[in-house]
Amino acid sequence: MNPPKVVVFDLGKVLLDFDYTITARKIFARCRVPAHDIVKLINQSPLLLRYESGALTTEEFFAEIKSAAGFSGDLDEFSELFGNIFSPIEPMIELHATLRGRSIPTFIFSNTNELAVRDIRARFPFFQNFDGYVFSYEHGSMKPEAKLYQAVERVTGRRESEILYLDDRPENVAAGVARGWRAVLHETPDQSKAEVSQAGLL
Ligand SMILES: [Mg+2]
Repeated sequence: MNPPKVVVFDLGKVLLDFDYTITARKIFARCRVPAHDIVKLINQSPLLLRYESGALTTEEFFAEIKSAAGFSGDLDEFSELFGNIFSPIEPMIELHATLRGRSIPTFIFSNTNELAVRDIRARFPFFQNFDGYVFSYEHGSMKPEAKLYQAVERVTGRRESEILYLDDRPENVAAGVARGWRAVLHETPDQSKAEVSQAGLL
């Protein structure tokens, strides 16, 4: 089998770690409801899902947080608290840099939202170095829905085994496999690196 032509990276828990409970604790100081209610409001919640699927704009999402939690600051303060939850997974960022050094096109494929992307752009220089980005909120669709995988095929100009895809969620990997992609369940940087190597890219 020929080596894949492009590598598609999931973002959360693959290149960047994150923890919404940090956000909830910081936001709690500015709210009138208990901290655990704020965690429920934003961590894997229906509200976050609506935001990340593009059903809510950032302004609408903020308005809902404001009314549900009584957040007392403005959108700028909220953006600062909400966005700053990410930490780098260095071995994976290095793996990405190695692929770039070998002139292999790379892409980001993420269920995410505008506030998170803004924050990541500002804080992590490596994030600029991709050939393209497919963010759920810009396409009105979320992984593992086929529509978002079709967007990746459009953006990369590649299909089936031309695409090597790394994601930490089994249902997302399964949806990639179903399209004939070489989809790898990311569990540890060492394992993922071995898979990329086995595919003939290192
Ligand atoms: Mg992930």
